[in-house]
Amino acid sequence: MNITLLYQSDPFKLRKYTCKNKQCGIRYEKRMVDKNIEWCSDECKKIVRDEKAEKLTRKAMRNLAKIKKEKREAAKAKNKEKHDKWREELGISKTKTDPLQNAINELVRELDKGKPCYVFPAYNTNGVPNQAGHCYGRGARSNLRYLLLNIHGESVYSNHNQDIDDIFKLEGLAARLGEWVKEALRVIHIENKVIKVSSHEKNEKIKIVRKLINRVKKGEILTRRYCDEQIGIYQLNEFYENM
Ligand SMILES: [Zn+2]
Repeated sequence: MNITLLYQSDPFKLRKYTCKNKQCGIRYEKRMVDKNIEWCSDECKKIVRDEKAEKLTRKAMRNLAKIKKEKREAAKAKNKEKHDKWREELGISKTKTDPLQNAINELVRELDKGKPCYVFPAYNTNGVPNQAGHCYGRGARSNLRYLLLNIHGESVYSNHNQDIDDIFKLEGLAARLGEWVKEALRVIHIENKVIKVSSHEKNEKIKIVRKLINRVKKGEILTRRYCDEQIGIYQLNEFYENM
């Protein structure tokens, strides 16, 4: 082996290094084996080590912030999942809302403005306006989703309460309108099993509904049966009273 190389790589030989304290930068001597020494003096040692500690602290804090952010996002995703499930159970489309349904619901809110919840008439809404609620849940008799006789002003409490079934709601409706409503809804369901409203027809129906909304807003008293006839989606029957 070359004797010069062996001499140069001698780890115990003193060599010149630059102090790691940037404010200092002094060239100092140490042995190659003393890997841990990166400073020229005790003062510089303190500065270099403090800087390192600060760097590590910043890194730890960044990690902590990252973990917190991930936790927050996981909670948000879980909440969204819950919300989507809830919407699905209520029969509200996850991807888009039906503009015809929205218009009809708005008409219901106008028709029933100021009336108590049809399921819980004594329920105190504390000023929260009633929603348009389906008597027959859209899952069970989804063909009745556009029928005004099946949609009435309902408290948010009742509308979102999963424990209330269709039959309980129907009893509430019968108490308000009369027993005839049960037969009317039953027959309309049977005679309109399949309802087809193309997107073109939907736009036409929406125009009709908008006109009805405007008339009610102007103070005209319109019966539900009249409005259902005007919208013209369903074949109605003689049980459906004109009220
Ligand atoms: Zn130094």
